[in-house]
Amino acid sequence: MECYACDREATQRCSRCGNAYCAEHGGDPNAPGGQALCAECLDPVSATPSGTVFRASLFALLGTSVLARRQGPILNVSVLGNFSFSDSPKTGMSVIVTACGDQAAANGLAERPG
Ligand SMILES: [Zn+2]
Ligand SMILES: [Zn+2]
Repeated sequence: MECYACDREATQRCSRCGNAYCAEHGGDPNAPGGQALCAECLDPVSATPSGTVFRASLFALLGTSVLARRQGPILNVSVLGNFSFSDSPKTGMSVIVTACGDQAAANGLAERPG
C-alpha cells in the first residue's frame, strides 16, 4: 500500500476519505490527540469543499451575532399574514419571534407586538 501523496509505504488509512498515507502525510491516531486522517482532511481549508464560501458564511454568522448583541435579546420578528386563511383562528395570522437566550422577551413581544 502506497501513500496517496508520495511514494512511501503507507502506514495508516484516513478514516474520513479512505486515502492511504505515510507518517508524513497524515495524523497518527496513536499519538495523544492524534486522528487517523490524511493531510488533506487534517487541513481545514482543503477539507472544506469551498473554502471561500465557508469563510463568507462564517463572517455572516459573526455579523449576525454582533448585531444581536447591539439590539438586545430579540434577533428577528416575523409576522405571517397567511393570506386567504387569515380569517380562521387556527390557520390565521401568527407571529414568530426569535430571541437569543431570552424566552420571556420573545414571549412578551409575540403577545404584544410593538
Ligand atoms: Zn506520504
Ligand atoms: Zn482523508
